[in-house]
Amino acid sequence: MGKPTGFKEYDRKKVPWRLPVVRLNDYGEIYTDPSDEELRKQGARCMDCGIPFCQSATGCPIDNLIPEWNDLVYNGRWKEAIERLHKTNNFPEFTGRVCPAPCEGACVLGITNPPVTIKNIENSIIDRAFAEGWVTANPPAERTGKKIAIIGSGPAGLAAADQLNKVGHSVTVFERADRIGGLLMYGIPNMKLSKEVVDRRLRLMEEEGVQFVTGADVGKTVDPKELVAEYDAVLLSTGATKARDLEIEGRSLSGIHFAMEFLTQNTKSLLDSQHRDGRYISAKGKRVVVVGGGDTGTDCIATSLRHGCTSLVNFELMDRPPVDRAEDNPWPQWPRIFRVDYGHEEAEAKYGADPRQYNVLSKGFVDNGQGGVGGIKAVTVEWYKEDGRMKFREVPGSERIFEADLVLLAMGFLGPENYVASALGVTLDGRSNYAAEHGQFRTNVDKVFAAGDCRRGQSLVVWAINEGRGAARAIDIYLQGSSVLPAPGITMGTATSVAIR
Ligand SMILES: Cc1cc2nc3c(=O)[nH]c(=O)nc-3n(C[C@H](O)[C@H](O)[C@H](O)COP(=O)(O)OP(=O)(O)OC[C@H]3O[C@@H](n4cnc5c(N)ncnc54)[C@H](O)[C@@H]3O)c2cc1C
Ligand code: SF4
Repeated sequence: MGKPTGFKEYDRKKVPWRLPVVRLNDYGEIYTDPSDEELRKQGARCMDCGIPFCQSATGCPIDNLIPEWNDLVYNGRWKEAIERLHKTNNFPEFTGRVCPAPCEGACVLGITNPPVTIKNIENSIIDRAFAEGWVTANPPAERTGKKIAIIGSGPAGLAAADQLNKVGHSVTVFERADRIGGLLMYGIPNMKLSKEVVDRRLRLMEEEGVQFVTGADVGKTVDPKELVAEYDAVLLSTGATKARDLEIEGRSLSGIHFAMEFLTQNTKSLLDSQHRDGRYISAKGKRVVVVGGGDTGTDCIATSLRHGCTSLVNFELMDRPPVDRAEDNPWPQWPRIFRVDYGHEEAEAKYGADPRQYNVLSKGFVDNGQGGVGGIKAVTVEWYKEDGRMKFREVPGSERIFEADLVLLAMGFLGPENYVASALGVTLDGRSNYAAEHGQFRTNVDKVFAAGDCRRGQSLVVWAINEGRGAARAIDIYLQGSSVLPAPGITMGTATSVAIR
């Protein structure tokens, strides 16, 4: 514990984002550079509790050694801090930017005061380590001769690849997209996670010996059975890519798109040509309605603003969350409270109001007379509890029309597309995810493992890293009989409920 009285002396102060009115004119990251002095103070607020809830149970899903690096940052021992951080997290530059930080919801200081700014400190440690040149390729001294194929290059596949490569296995990652990274590349926009930051880590992994194959759609252009025959183990980390649709009247009108079509095309066109190729769905000059909240909804809002939309509304079916924790949501659970994310802040800066409309149920799309969408018919709903379950009913006479030229559907995902699973005979669980137990990660097919959103359902980057690390250990044990790789926490806690997108 760096400073015993730190939590009494210093207030919580987050590293500020760039001003909304400035940042919404570009696709650069929203973050500013933190001051060393302020970071030291924030590290000093950590109380080094007897039981650090932040790093276990309902806190960090990868058991980051948070009090240890808080202390090291307070004492200016940054190099040791990154060594501690890399012990549990392969990619702190991703989580430090995009994690919703369940650790902060479980911080003991948070019982009486605002919690420690753990996520900011994590990000500062890794950014500094890269800036100082401390993060360099460290290939394994020896190879085991075992070959592993990983299908899907999101954070789960990448974490598994990194771990398995470290212990000397030869890893090839197959990705159907033209760039590696899964949702880190084509999902989370540049403003939240710069693609240079993703590529920087991928270059290191390549230097360490991981092989990446893009444009390899396993189950379509690559035979999964051949991979199983050729490799000693195969990991499925294909994500939860089946988007939930809104099958209401008028769905076939033009101008209605899944969020992922919009976000993927936007990033690809941006990276390929700075949008000069025009190969993206543009919100310029359009009235935009985003149906669904969470990170995906926010990313659609922020991207539409940057295109130059003329108005923006975001439908939320649920009630507006409370400002403070509700009684049935005590510490150290993830606080289900009202939050203002970067896109909401930007919309408010541009239009003078938060774009979110709560308790709204879409009933039908309205034709603009030319086969395109012109609006959405919606009603207000009210929520009530029946037999212990939350239900909603429509408020009579509340129907109204929201004008829209572009509708983006951000209502979550229904599990993985299962053409790889069906080609291999992998069974699915009751939620149509690949069936494999957390901790074992083995499917019913010999040699075949599963990890990440395709196994647990749509979740978070930090959970994908947890699963990738865990699957790597399971595969290593399968191949060698034992493993020196760590097993990340298997306590599910409440952090899973963070993923509402
Ligand atoms: C828009 C959006 C924003 C998000 N924002 C956040 C956030 O801010 N913070 C956070 O923690 N989480 C966020 N998430 C969730 C997070 O990105 C995911 O939980 C995480 O990426 C899951 O990792 P994964 O490796 O399991 O799968 P993914 O990242 O989905 O990667 C799966 C990869 O597998 C590839 N693939 C699929 N099938 C095949 C095949 N047959 N052959 C070859 N390749 C295949 C896909 O192309 C994809 O690249 C967001 C999700 C979305 C959609
Ligand atoms: S990975 Fe997420 S939960 Fe873990 S310490 Fe970082 S911000 Fe907190």
